[in-house]
Order: sequence, then structure tokens, then C-alpha cells
Amino acid sequence: MKYISTRGGLAPIPFSQAVMMGLASDGGLLLPEILPEVGNGLLKKWQGLDYKSLALEIISLFCDDIPRDVLSSMIKKSYSSFDVQEVTPLVKKDGIYVLELFHGPTLAFKDVALQFLGNLFSFLLKEQSSYMNILGATSGDTGSAAIYGVKGKENINIFILHPHGRVSRMQALQMTTVPDENCFNLAVKGTFDDCQAIVKAVFNDLEFKDRHHLGAINSINWARVLAQVVYYVYAALRLKEQGHEQVLFSVPTGNFGDIFAGYVAKVLTGQLIERLILATNENNILTRFIVEGVYKRGQVVPTISPSMDIQIASNFERYLYYLFNEDAERVKKTMEEFEGKGEIRFAQKEIQRARMDFSSYSITQEETVRTIGALYKETGYVCDPHTAVGVAAARSFKRESSSDLPIVCLATAHPCKFPEAVEQAIGTPPEVPERMKGLEKLPQRYEVIPPDVERVKSYIEAHGL
Ligand SMILES: *Cc1c(COP(=O)(O)O)cnc(C)c1O
Repeated sequence: MKYISTRGGLAPIPFSQAVMMGLASDGGLLLPEILPEVGNGLLKKWQGLDYKSLALEIISLFCDDIPRDVLSSMIKKSYSSFDVQEVTPLVKKDGIYVLELFHGPTLAFKDVALQFLGNLFSFLLKEQSSYMNILGATSGDTGSAAIYGVKGKENINIFILHPHGRVSRMQALQMTTVPDENCFNLAVKGTFDDCQAIVKAVFNDLEFKDRHHLGAINSINWARVLAQVVYYVYAALRLKEQGHEQVLFSVPTGNFGDIFAGYVAKVLTGQLIERLILATNENNILTRFIVEGVYKRGQVVPTISPSMDIQIASNFERYLYYLFNEDAERVKKTMEEFEGKGEIRFAQKEIQRARMDFSSYSITQEETVRTIGALYKETGYVCDPHTAVGVAAARSFKRESSSDLPIVCLATAHPCKFPEAVEQAIGTPPEVPERMKGLEKLPQRYEVIPPDVERVKSYIEAHGL
């Protein structure tokens, strides 16, 4: 399988090169040349497979330049860090299905992709006798998942900037208590935007970037999307075994990364996934796209589901490519126009097509808290505020449609990561799993720095590979 750019300015490249490239060199996003669709025969074969075996089958379809046995051990290693054998268990609570994606080392769904990406980077770098210094900014979840993805790897150092005192206590502890010497936390005296601006400035210094082999780990990397396709197929097959020929997924969305993986799974499995419910919080650019047919930038408002407080969905361009019938020239023109105008308008038939793929609901914070409370009252199940956005959207869909197909709600974080919102909803703080309990007692490693690009560069000069 070869990879192309959504903007058309790239000769097809193999999987490993696409993984190392991250963002396409023409400014677009990388996609497989063709999205494969597997027939009923193959789906049948996949039915009894456990998570890791299924992951090998699916990832192999998209990756033909890594030996299968290498890929297999990479997958086994990536998911042995999860605290349940099933990796992403599907639980049923009073009519709704919850797919728990938070059993990885940092208790958020980003582990599913970043555990795999860390091992993949490490393997590819070793093959090329090379190394990488990863640089990234985080408002909480991504940083810790990225650190856990590469900690202890010989050929990778990682530098994560977070806004000092502005991430939750648990999130800070998860990052700063990692003892491995290849992990560096920089607590920037400023906001998340300051952190992001610094990272961008450092990457824009191309001479510095090349000299230090800087790498990114953000959600536009194709390998992250690919790793996430697996759990959609896994859950749909579990339900097929129980006699459900079609299912829906409700996905709490920020960057359109997770739900784009759902779209790939939908195409891949033919009829198995009927549609995707795209759930947003008050930052609802994607819901407005589906409901009003206009993709228009708005102001970011902070909410109790902070990992979805995003107004420009960096993976949206991938869907656009398919919505425009793979017309890369048009994607390029449209994205360039969007940078200036902050808005994309669509033809009626495109909107209709998008509405076949997605139904969308924007959920207020009040409704989110109410949903956590109601689910707890009805079933005893405690969910985090991101998951609750998806559950609320699933319930809105059920009220409005006549569909009685099962809906799988993706649970993207463990409730203990967002204790304030959960306590507000159910009256008691969420339980903290065993592996998170000792963190307070561990030594912390981080350096507080001013919001200064040169300071970050000299830090990388001193501590980089
Ligand atoms: C990142 C994140 C999301 C949003 O995922 P996208 O891929 O950006 O749509 C949702 N919930 C949690 C807990 C997250 O960390």
C-alpha cells in the first residue's frame, strides 16, 4: 500500500516513509492510495480473533513494508501495557454499549495509538541507524500518552512542554513522575497557546529541526489513525457475534482523529457500521458542518471536556478528500481559502452525503454533567465528561430517529482523570485505579522555564540526542 497527499503534491510513498513524514511535505495529510473494503469472507475469518490478532490483520492491510512477524511482536508489545487482556473491553449498561478505551498506561484512549506509534518509530529509526528528538506541547492528555509511548527507547528523546500550573494535578504527575532519562518535561510559565507557539517556532527553524532530527507526535500521523481503526472493527465484530448485523458508534470528537478512524472502519467493513454519531461539546465547528452545511471557525471556549476544546479539526481534511471524490486539487484550493476566510461552504449533495456518514450533536456542559449523573443513577456506571458527551449524543440520536440498532459509545478517558466534573455530577469523587495511586509519592522531574523559544532550543541542544 502506497500513500498519497490530500493536496496531491506528492509521488506515492510506502507506509514507513508516511509514518516518518507525519504531515505531508506539500502541507496536506497522508492517506492510503485506496481505502480497502473487506468482504464478508474476511470479516467471518476475523470474527473469533482477539484484539492483538485482529490488529495484526487490519494493520497489515495498510502496511506492506514491515515484515509480518516484526509487526506482530510490535503489536503484542504495544498492547501488553494495557491492564486488561481484551485491550478495549465492550461493556453493556442498560441498553447502551460502552467501549472502554482507557485501559492503557495513562488512562486515555490516546494510549491505543501512541503505544503503537512509539514502538513503530523505534523500529524504523533502528533500521535506518537514526534517532529522533520528539518535541510537543500538551494541555494534558497527549503529553503523558506520548511520554509513555516512547519512555526508555534508546533512539528517541522526548521533550514535552506543558503550561506550568495549568494542567490537572493527575495529568502533571503522570508526566513528571516518569523516571526514564529520555523524557524531559518543560513547565512553561504561560498558557497552552504559548507552549504551542514555541513548538511551532522551533519547528519553523528548519536548520535547527534538521540538525536535531526533530519529530512530532501529533494526531495527524497516519499510524495513529490506523491503530484506532482496530477497536471499531473489534467492537462491531463482537456485536455481530451476538447477532447484530449493523451497529452505530458515538464518538466524542475534537480533532476529528478518532472519528476519522471510525470512517475508515466504516468503509473497510462495508455494511457493518451504519453510521457514526459525531459528538461535540460547545466547541461545535463539526456539528455545525453537519447540521448547517458550513464549516466555519469559531472561538475556543474552555469546557469540562478540555481534550475536545478545539475549533479547527486537524484531521477534517482527510474526510474532505473523500467528500470531494478524491479531487486533491479541490482540497488544496479549499484548504488554502479556509486559511484566509475561515469558512468552507458545501454543495447540497455533499451535505447530504456527509449526513449519510454522520449524525451530529453538540452537548452543553450542563447536559454533560446531567448525563454523568443519570447514567450513574440508572446503572451505577461512572463515565468521564468526554465519554458523557458521546453518551448524551447517542441518547439524542435515539430520541430523534426510529433506528433500534445498537449504539457503541466510545469511552475515551477514565473518570478519575477529571474528578471535579465527576464529583459535581454524582456527589462523590471517582475511584482511582491502583496504578495511579502511588504517583504522589514518586519523585517528580521537570524544569520550569519562561515562555521563550531560545530557552527551549538551548535545552534541546543540551539534552537532545
Ligand atoms: C483527545 C481526546 C478526545 C478527542 O479525540 P480526537 O481524536 O481529537 O477527536 C476525546 N476524549 C479524550 C479523553 C481525549 O483525550
